[in-house]
Amino acid sequence: MNHTQSHKLFEKACRLIPGGVNSPVRAFKSVKNKPVYIVEGSGSVITDVDSNQYIDFCSSWGPLVLGHNDPDVRKALNNAAEKGLSFGTCSPYEVEMAELLKKLVPNAEMFRMVNSGTEAVMTALRMARGFTGKKYIIKFDGCYHGHSDSLLVNAGSGLLTNSVSSSAGVTEKQTAEVMSLQYGNAESIQKAFEKYPDDIAAVIIEPVAGNMGLVKPEKTFLELLRKLCTEHSSCLIFDEVITGFRFHAGAYADIAGITPDIFTFGKIIGAGMPIGAVAASEKIASCLAPLGNVYQAGTLSGNPAALAAGIAGLKKLEQLNPYPEMTRLAGIFADEVNKFAAENNIPAICVQERGVFTLFFKEGGKPENLNDVQKCNTDTFADYHNYMLEHGFYIPPSQFELNFVSAAHTEKDIRSAAECAVNFLKTLK
Ligand code: PMP
Repeated sequence: MNHTQSHKLFEKACRLIPGGVNSPVRAFKSVKNKPVYIVEGSGSVITDVDSNQYIDFCSSWGPLVLGHNDPDVRKALNNAAEKGLSFGTCSPYEVEMAELLKKLVPNAEMFRMVNSGTEAVMTALRMARGFTGKKYIIKFDGCYHGHSDSLLVNAGSGLLTNSVSSSAGVTEKQTAEVMSLQYGNAESIQKAFEKYPDDIAAVIIEPVAGNMGLVKPEKTFLELLRKLCTEHSSCLIFDEVITGFRFHAGAYADIAGITPDIFTFGKIIGAGMPIGAVAASEKIASCLAPLGNVYQAGTLSGNPAALAAGIAGLKKLEQLNPYPEMTRLAGIFADEVNKFAAENNIPAICVQERGVFTLFFKEGGKPENLNDVQKCNTDTFADYHNYMLEHGFYIPPSQFELNFVSAAHTEKDIRSAAECAVNFLKTLK
């Protein structure tokens, strides 16, 4: 493949934008390469500025469950844009979105729209502290909840690939009231509640972790969190920025059969437009200004164009129910790759949950926490990434991310990707 134009753009970008990118993982640093510049997406395919085409498994990092440039989403967005991009006051879309979310997430009663997952989580934490009057937040190693100061403690995603355990510019004081425990470790969370029985405002978790690659906890672990939070009057927050509407047209909480006190949603509910939402019972959500004394605001929150796109996307997901097929297709990839790796003793394992998967390059089975994940061979992953890219498959440029199957992927797309991945594994024999 020829990447001349992409590389020229990246060179220019590096002089104008820190690291050449507006979000760190896009830089391809951890796969020892340079990014390709995408100019168009349609269905499962993206096209770069050098006219190379790729079957895309990044899906804009999750939001494009319907695939790129879905015609119904585009139409709704265009219709809204015809009438104005922002009013800074109330619009009917806000009521429609809240009604729709209430229908799809029946265990939440009120919804506040924001502009990103980071913002949703910031709001959730403030709300939890305001509601409980307590100070500590518990998170889990390898989970990423956006880039707000206090949560950059043992965080996943770009912070893993960039080898930053925390972030410069964040003071000890800012993280002092956040504890990060091992994902899935029942004993450590029990001990934390024993030590601070009355001071934990919230436990926040990705109920299926996606930011250290795919790591799924035992159901009993999530049940334990629910039990401890209830016993200690702490808020359980499910950060569903990745999992919400990814596995069915609703929250993952419904699949797990556990009701958190607060949900956070992001990207998927905007079908590709900048968005986020925090959802809770009326009692908890009523803490927010102007009803309550927990302040939160946003000039562009509930933006009509973003909401129009999001509403169209969610309605289509509900009506189409592409999820069983996405699960089947992801299963084909995982099965093919795992079969070859097992038969040939190759240290690789593809972990799948419904329509998402991560191919980990490591010995010894599925990872269960950040320690396990960090045993992956990131050099091999870099080679894998480059191999896939050069053969027309765009996968997230990091070992510690998810691959997303969308409703637009075909069996042919998946089988060809699996064949390419197996061909790569052959080079490791
Ligand atoms: N929470 C989770 C679970 C996420 O995966 C992410 C980003 N991928 C965020 C929060 C932050 O969302 P955003 O990038 O929209 O700020």
